[in-house]
Amino acid sequence: MLLKGTKALITGASRGIGKEIARRFIEEGAEVWGLATRPSEGAKELAAFAAEKGSAYHEVIADVGDPDSVRPAVEAALKESGGFSALVNNAGITRDGLSFRMKLEDWESVLRVNLTGTFIVTQIVSSDMIRKRAGSIVNLSSIVGLHGQGGQVNYAASKAGIIGYTKALAKETAGRGVRVNAIAPGFISTEMTDAVPEEAKKTWIESIPMKRAGSVRDVADAVVFLASDMSAYITAQVIGVDGGMGA
Ligand code: NAP
Repeated sequence: MLLKGTKALITGASRGIGKEIARRFIEEGAEVWGLATRPSEGAKELAAFAAEKGSAYHEVIADVGDPDSVRPAVEAALKESGGFSALVNNAGITRDGLSFRMKLEDWESVLRVNLTGTFIVTQIVSSDMIRKRAGSIVNLSSIVGLHGQGGQVNYAASKAGIIGYTKALAKETAGRGVRVNAIAPGFISTEMTDAVPEEAKKTWIESIPMKRAGSVRDVADAVVFLASDMSAYITAQVIGVDGGMGA
């Protein structure tokens, strides 16, 4: 049990990578508060799984891109939990399109949810972590934030922003007992990548040295590691979970 006694807030926990992170955290002994924009089947499944494991899953409803929605929700969760020792900023969206045709609202909504949302949630949770001089924050970036991807200038900018944000924050908090790291997944099978056309999917998988898409479990295991004391001397790092693609 790598996370016994941990209280964790995970954003975007209703499905995909976030849901698997929540499931693995519960499996490793954590009590989880999972945030998403609406009530979900995923949350019901996680609550049942947690009960089976003798733990609890708490559903938090908020839009991370809207300060008036997310601030009170995270503050209430923080109060209910008594403080989080792990935070996973996983909520994310795509609004793909070529740069010259991209609507300003598609640029702004991706930056707002993926980057500003991470900033708002972290500001609230990390203040308490700093006071207690303990905590681990894991931010979901992407291989696209490191290497770029045509048709995704908004998403790439948001995920590159996550890397700069992670390293800067890690330097602010390292002396105060709080570690901050990022994960840069490659091509992972989820609803987000189901939307990619079959032909493009084939080309992506061809370019992966391990010749397979990653699983949500591959990513969740790396997050468990970064949230646990197994990574006690690791901060300000970006770990690729990409089958060798980003090397
Ligand atoms: P997904 O299946 O589309 O799930 C996205 C999650 O984020 C959902 O739980 C969704 O909840 C939540 N969310 C979206 N907008 C939100 C908002 N405004 N406020 C609160 N929650 C919101 O995505 P995924 O593939 O699991 O990706 C998870 C993270 O990994 C993202 O940050 C993504 O950029 C990153 N990533 C994914 C891949 C990949 O290949 N899949 C690769 C690299 C990085 P609702 O139920 O409320 O919509």
